[in-house]
Amino acid sequence: MDNYDVVVIGAGISGLLSALALSREGKSVLILEKEDYVGGVCRSYEVDGYRLDTGPHAITRLENGPFKELMNRYFDVIPQFVPFGKYYVRIGSEIKPFPWNINAWFSFGLLPKTDRLLLMKSLFNALYMLTNGTDLSTIPISDLLPQNISINSKRFINWLCYFTVGTSVENTSVSRFIDNKTNKGDSIRYIGKLYDLLISEGATDQGYPKGGLQSIINSILTSFPENKVKIKTNEEVINIQCNGKIEKVITKENSYDCNTMIYSGFASNLPKLVDNLPTNYVENLLSIKNVNSLTIWLGLTKKIFKNYGSQMWIDSDPFAWVVPTTNYDPTLAPNGNQLVGFAFTLPDEYNASKMRKQAFNAILEIEPEIEKHIDMIHYQNLIPEKASWSINSGFGDVKTPIKNLYCVGTDTEKRSAGVSRAAYSVLRCLKIMKSDGNL
Ligand SMILES: Cc1cc2nc3c(=O)[nH]c(=O)nc-3n(C[C@H](O)[C@H](O)[C@H](O)COP(=O)(O)OP(=O)(O)OC[C@H]3O[C@@H](n4cnc5c(N)ncnc54)[C@H](O)[C@@H]3O)c2cc1C
Repeated sequence: MDNYDVVVIGAGISGLLSALALSREGKSVLILEKEDYVGGVCRSYEVDGYRLDTGPHAITRLENGPFKELMNRYFDVIPQFVPFGKYYVRIGSEIKPFPWNINAWFSFGLLPKTDRLLLMKSLFNALYMLTNGTDLSTIPISDLLPQNISINSKRFINWLCYFTVGTSVENTSVSRFIDNKTNKGDSIRYIGKLYDLLISEGATDQGYPKGGLQSIINSILTSFPENKVKIKTNEEVINIQCNGKIEKVITKENSYDCNTMIYSGFASNLPKLVDNLPTNYVENLLSIKNVNSLTIWLGLTKKIFKNYGSQMWIDSDPFAWVVPTTNYDPTLAPNGNQLVGFAFTLPDEYNASKMRKQAFNAILEIEPEIEKHIDMIHYQNLIPEKASWSINSGFGDVKTPIKNLYCVGTDTEKRSAGVSRAAYSVLRCLKIMKSDGNL
């Protein structure tokens, strides 16, 4: 198989899902991956007998979302998901389930009652502004926050912004929180949002893949039709040649003729790979800001985190999301030990070793008992989203100015986040390729 219908650059989940869909639709596909492994930031590996994921993951919208749609359409083997459980909010030593609806919000004793009332008022103001036709994509959440709320209430909102958008309340647009699963037109969207707000039971459609993230990647790989997909690792693409349309792709070692290409690396790197892109297109790509994260994985000789679910640490510095993955699948650690991922969001610029120390100290400050039970420690500095949906920064798109060159990944589609966002981008790419006559 030397000639391919499509070349996919990058074997992260968006590149692999694209290759699976296209090969299932009858295309032959070549995947070029610069690393010596596939999966990008959605995979697992072993450290001292523990199976670690690339950051703790909740796979979202599993009942009725884009990833489910791709699994139904193209997977031979569906990974087994177990419920992700509750999200617990932790402030000091107090822990309570996340308040998903109004009822829970009014009895959510971790934040002062007056703050909860004031925040509710701000939320209804935002919803009113929406129905009014106000463009909320340029209004930061901080503009709508009441002035006199407590530090904990401010940190609670900031935590949500950092972990859902990857940036602070000052840079998060109000519209980011109006993103809705239905996506069926505005009036239904708002009604859906209000419905969620009033009676939602929380994240009931989220799961963790048994065996770790790697089982998702393995399901994709085993679902490739025979002789339709070739993956080449250690093949970094350094130039994409076009003459009105895509013609050739050059890697450090080889070159490949190419008619149609899907690029799943950083959209902000595209101008380095393709010459003569339009200036305004390049300017937008260069203004994209990615999200930085640090995960500390601890293997513990004692089960410290007993609740089934994850914890949102509001008063740790930096903010943390704590996910004991062995509560979902005990086989991820040896001898009944507990494996816990502590994910921290990081600023745009940071000193890696300083942040590691600070984050580790934050863990011990909140849960000092951990120190005498550490059996394994492993650090990961990774980029969860290639673009944060923040105010005043750019965002990529699936379509490009070059005929037959498409982009997928978390910097090309604004809906949702992480794996769901990657899946939305792939579905959109397939739709556009169809309307371009390439599928
Ligand atoms: C700490 C952390 C927590 C997360 N939590 C969640 C969560 O709870 N829920 C969720 O859904 N998601 C979560 N995610 C995010 C999710 O894992 C990612 O959004 C998703 O895996 C991104 O996939 P991708 O294919 O778009 O990008 P990537 O995985 O970055 O893949 C891009 C691939 O392209 C390759 N590449 C780039 N340039 C080139 C080139 N020039 N030539 C060849 N190859 C190239 C790269 O090596 C890489 O393999 C989390 C991620 C992290 C790090």
